[in-house]
Parts: sequence; structure tokens; C-alpha cells
Amino acid sequence: MKHFAPSAPADAAGEHGGFPPARSFRQSEQELAILDTVLDGVIGIDASAVVQFFNPAATRIFGYAPEEVIGRNVRMLMPEPYRAEHDGYVAHFVETGERKVIGVGREVSGRRKDGSVFPMELGINEMRVEGKRHFVGTVRDITERKAAEQRIAEFIAALQRSNQELDEFAYIASHDLKEPLRGLSTNATFLKEDWGEILGQNGVRRLDRIMFLAARMEHLVNDLLYFSRLGRQELAVQPTDLNDVIAGIRDIAGMAGHDATVSIVVPEPLPVIVCDLPRVTELFRNLVSNAIKYNDKPERRIEIGCSDETGEQVFHVRDNGIGIEPRFHEEIFRIFKRLNSEDDEVKGTGVGLTFVRKIVERHGGRIWLESAPGTGTTFYFTLPEPR
Ligand code: ADP
Repeated sequence: MKHFAPSAPADAAGEHGGFPPARSFRQSEQELAILDTVLDGVIGIDASAVVQFFNPAATRIFGYAPEEVIGRNVRMLMPEPYRAEHDGYVAHFVETGERKVIGVGREVSGRRKDGSVFPMELGINEMRVEGKRHFVGTVRDITERKAAEQRIAEFIAALQRSNQELDEFAYIASHDLKEPLRGLSTNATFLKEDWGEILGQNGVRRLDRIMFLAARMEHLVNDLLYFSRLGRQELAVQPTDLNDVIAGIRDIAGMAGHDATVSIVVPEPLPVIVCDLPRVTELFRNLVSNAIKYNDKPERRIEIGCSDETGEQVFHVRDNGIGIEPRFHEEIFRIFKRLNSEDDEVKGTGVGLTFVRKIVERHGGRIWLESAPGTGTTFYFTLPEPR
């Protein structure tokens, strides 16, 4: 394929101001072959913006054969208003040396032979061949990338909308659902007090159940509200000594009752990290209390540690409890999901791990677990940078 200005004879190239094809490039046949195969369009112009060189990728991108472009002003590859402005740019640079696009890559619009306009990335470099100034433009069609960016932007906008709807829902839940709920509970209480004798034992038992369920629902609504707040509120970060955090939650060791002992072990001192202290305290409190709750051993052992073997700080909370089957490893993070809901001794609403994951994510981290049913569970997480 012919890439160069057909009219520029090798020796006269310098005089005519065109790309000097033969002599200067003969020694670089290999370079020419490379220009034939590169994916980016490479276009050479002279100081008057006349195209001297047009590689096959440029043909693919613009739809012009080299002979349709070479010898013509490069502005034919641009849509308005750049088309009109381009001569001015080149002249301005040639006159003043002031760089507007030279040496910097930027996104501009290109115009194909069929008239369609497309986004492209353009890098321009200046070079001197035999004392004459030339410009080499590298062009990349970024239509697909732009379309993908557009789709991502749309997804983000849709997500933001649905988050907003969720916030509104949480607000409605707090103000509009809580009120009738309290009414239900109060009426059941009055009914029990005033009509309890007439209703009899069975009736009172049912009223108690209504009050219990209303209280539980209020709890769930509050959890939902808190979850929505966790996602929205700015984190207040500060350097935090995690050893102090653990010292502050040791009181929960008492929750196991008298029939079991609990030891919370921290083999190596934990680091000081920048994080939101109350949230991270809550994270550890939830993981440690689960490690105690979901544990049937008389000696419940919880180990808390941090390792940076992989170059990343990975924290862990390990227990010797009942373990979690692999098929539930993702599900347990879902709001209100409980695996042991039948177990009345172990009370919870199934939000602890949902909050934990949210807190980890707000700190730009991730959480995962390893578990063997019967022998115990280890939760791993990172807390890199608060967002
Ligand atoms: P809750 O404790 O209120 O049920 P969580 O979200 O904290 O809610 O936990 C969800 C479920 O995951 C629990 O119901 C329990 O079945 C399981 N689980 C959590 N932590 C552990 C653990 N350390 N060992 C075994 N099971 C656990």
C-alpha cells in the first residue's frame, strides 16, 4: 500500500516540504512494516497541514485510501468546527511555537469518509526531517470505549437513583411504618390490661405474641434505617489503635453465659490504621459476638490478628465454633439472613454481617471467609482506605 505523498520525489522531498520518503525511510523498512501493522492510525502532515503519510490503520479508521488523502489538507478528517479552526492552530504553532495539542494526547472528534463523526484519541508530535518541520498524529478510534463509558455512566446514574429511592424508602419506613406499629403494640397492651380476664389464657397468649412480633418488627425497621444510614453518612476517619478497639469490646466475652469460657486472643499487637473508629469497633464487636454466639464448645477461643504477607494488610477473626457450610458463605451477608433462626437461645436479626460488610466496603476493603462446619470459621477482611 502506498503511504506517502506520491508527488514527493526522494531527493527533492526536503525542497518540497513533503515527507522525504525514500532516502530517510529506506533504512527503516522494518519501521515501515511496523506502521503497517499498528492498530493506531498514523498520519503525517507537513507544516502546511498537507497529509504526507497515511498508514493502513488510518484507512481503516477514516475509510479513505491513502491516495485520497495524501496531498490534501488534513482538516478533511475533522468535523466542524475543528475543520475551520485547524489551519489556525497549525499556523499559530508554526509561528509562535506555542503548544496547544502537540505532545499531549487528547480526545477530539474525527470525520470518516462517509461523513460520520466519531470520538478519537489524538496524540501529535513534531519532528524535523532534513530541517523541515513535520507533524505525526497518532489516532485511535475510541467509539467503543466511549459507548462503554456512557453505559457505565448510565448504570451509575440508575444506581444512584435506586439508592436515593432506598433512602426515601428508609425514611418512609421510619416515620410511616413505625407509628402504626407502635399503635398496634399499645392497643394490644391495653386490650391485655382491660380485657385480659375475659379473653382468657389463650387470648392473652396471643396478645403477648402480637406485642412480641410488633417489637421485633420495630427492631427490623430500625436495622433497615441504620443500614441505609451506614451507606450514606460520611466516615469520620482518624488514626486508630486497633489494640484499644479490641480492649474496648472484651466485655462481650461475658455473653457466653456460665457454662462456657471465652478467650479472646491477639497473638501479635495489631496495627494503628486510619479508619472510622465507631464503625470499626462495631465491625469487630459483630464478628467477635458471632464467634461467641455460634459456638458450641465449652472453651470458646477467638483469635484476632493481622498479616501483611501478600503486601496487603489482611485482618482476621477466627473461632472454633459451629462453622458455616460453603453454600451459605455469600448468603450470610444478606440483610435479615439467618442460618440458625430456629435457635431461640441465639437471638439476632440477621443484620450483623450485613453491617460488617458495609463497613468494610466503606473503607474500600473486602471481606471473605474460610470455614469448616464443626471446627470453626475465620473471617478475613481488609480496611485500606476510607471512602
Ligand atoms: P445474626 O447473628 O443476627 O443472625 P449475622 O448477620 O451476624 O446475623 O449472621 C448471619 C448468620 O450467619 C447467622 O445467623 C449465623 O447463622 C451465621 N454466622 C455468622 N457468624 C458466624 C460464625 N462465626 N460461625 C458460624 N455461623 C455464623
